Amino acid sequence: MVANQFRSVLRSKLDTTPNVDAGGLTVWVERNKEHGVGSEVYTAHTSPPYLAKLVFHEALHNKLRKDNRLHDRQSGLAAASVGESTTATKKNYALMASAIEKNVPQWLGGFPASSGVRK
Ligand SMILES: [Zn+2]
Repeated sequence: MVANQFRSVLRSKLDTTPNVDAGGLTVWVERNKEHGVGSEVYTAHTSPPYLAKLVFHEALHNKLRKDNRLHDRQSGLAAASVGESTTATKKNYALMASAIEKNVPQWLGGFPASSGVRK
């Protein structure tokens, strides 16, 4: 969680210009010895319930390993735009349920002490 996209850890650490959702970002890293997926959500001007919705949305990108194709033919929390009044659909829950137990290696390069983190 970072304040806003201008404080993005993913953008500052990675040489990438990814598509950014309004409230978050998910990037797949495959370079040198780094492999994994990183997600962040933006907390500025965000209420806790809205933040939870943004986390759910970025978690869908992360766990399903889908870029903006995730949004295709989706509504609710999997749609391209997730607002404070957006609600989850049964299809959103089914999508998350299909991937929640999937082991997805996470990118650890954004952590200051990542060299000491076991992978
Ligand atoms: Zn998205």
